[in-house]
Amino acid sequence: MISTLNKINTAFEIFRANKGFASKFNFAKCILYNLTPSKYRPQSLNFFPISSTIYVNTICNYRCSFCFLINDDHKGSKKFNLTLDRFNELIEHDFLRYSGRITLGGGEPFLNKYIFDFIKILKSNNKVISIYTNGSLLDRLYDSYMDNQVNYLNISHYDDKFASLRHIFKRINFDKKRTSITRLSKIVTNENFYELEEVFDEATASGFDRIILQNYFPYKKDEKDLVIYKDNKDFINTLNSLKKKHKKIKVIEPNLLSRRNKKFSCNNLSLNSTIDSEGNLSPCCFLTPPSPLNGNIFDENSNPWNSFQFLKFREKLGENSSPKSCEFCYFKHGIENRVF
Ligand code: SF4
Repeated sequence: MISTLNKINTAFEIFRANKGFASKFNFAKCILYNLTPSKYRPQSLNFFPISSTIYVNTICNYRCSFCFLINDDHKGSKKFNLTLDRFNELIEHDFLRYSGRITLGGGEPFLNKYIFDFIKILKSNNKVISIYTNGSLLDRLYDSYMDNQVNYLNISHYDDKFASLRHIFKRINFDKKRTSITRLSKIVTNENFYELEEVFDEATASGFDRIILQNYFPYKKDEKDLVIYKDNKDFINTLNSLKKKHKKIKVIEPNLLSRRNKKFSCNNLSLNSTIDSEGNLSPCCFLTPPSPLNGNIFDENSNPWNSFQFLKFREKLGENSSPKSCEFCYFKHGIENRVF
């Protein structure tokens, strides 16, 4: 029930961010498509994404083992630092113009020197803005951030770094000028969920509005046991007891993976686009980095969201098997407990 309300709220928020008939019509087509049972969804889309994630860089001051974008297989590069001109070209492009919600990601987005210009431009375009950050630079950039706040400030929780950054988060969360909704984002695995009590205590004591729990996406084959499945009663009991104890903080629960052979119904392939500073696309934020092979919005000869790669993914919609790279993804049966 709560997850349905969350989804409706999010949809309504994005709908309101769409100005003009064409934009609202695009939104309606997108929602209708995603509400259609997956076996009846065409592979080719006749609308644009209503939500987009833009990687403003691929560099970071941290090195996290679970990072999808920067790792041993693909190192980050300064060449993907998004410039102001390119940012304007991106958000004015037909492909992105109907995205009511823009998520700024990276790398560490606050390492991009134009980050506050990006926020200003998005605000003047009435977008719902979300940002994912490790939070380490917010102390130094405090005043600039408070003058240019986003709708959703998502701080990733890193076990070994939270204590040294706690004072920054408290400063923001307890500042009367704060307008952002702040969310502490934690990746939960089959191994670390026993330590969630500490995360809930930290989030409450540091004044966060919400906790977002994200299930683990196994980037490597030998990590597949880290995903949390729907039949994990220990996890469900742990979460329920934490929610009971911490009633004041809103919890966005993780999508759990089903062991049942359900139909492939990924919504990310038809709601949200993931794009880098060159205009290259990814199927989603897990299957990165973006690549021209998936489509590039500046390539005039291509239909990027209906590229060969995207059609290959959507070919599996409604089937009992999923594309190989989606095998252990907790979104493969659709968005359930998460707001989109
Ligand atoms: S099922 Fe998961 S990995 Fe596959 S496209 Fe969807 S979000 Fe990405």
